[in-house]
Amino acid sequence: MEHDCLFCKIINKEIPSDFIYANDRVVVFRDINPQAPVHLLIVPKKHIRSINDITGEDSEVLAEMIMIAREMAQKESVAESGYKLFFNVERGGGQVIFHLHLHLVGGWEQ
Ligand code: 5GP
Ligand code: ZN
Repeated sequence: MEHDCLFCKIINKEIPSDFIYANDRVVVFRDINPQAPVHLLIVPKKHIRSINDITGEDSEVLAEMIMIAREMAQKESVAESGYKLFFNVERGGGQVIFHLHLHLVGGWEQ
């Protein structure tokens, strides 16, 4: 765990937060400032700063995050209507929390 990392604190339950999903490697919770009717964050428990910092070792957890995102889209009833999955990478890419997370946004009216 990285000192002073907000998402590490959420993962370690130092900051209360409702997990929609959790296993030994990944947690999912709702974005505090949603940009869409459904806005989830899929977060590896391992502290990784950004996509720039992933290594070959992380490929399994990255694949798992995508599989979980797909499940969450079904659970949140946006799978059929459609959704976006994205990573913001570093400041210029809009990243403000420097603990890797995959955004899932969807649920707009069609
Ligand atoms: P980034 O811009 O780094 O890709 O996204 C960080 C996201 O984390 C933002 O959408 C922001 O609203 C969300 N966020 C920031 N602080 C908290 C928090 O304490 N709890 C939750 N659930 N989301 C947060
Ligand atoms: Zn962290």
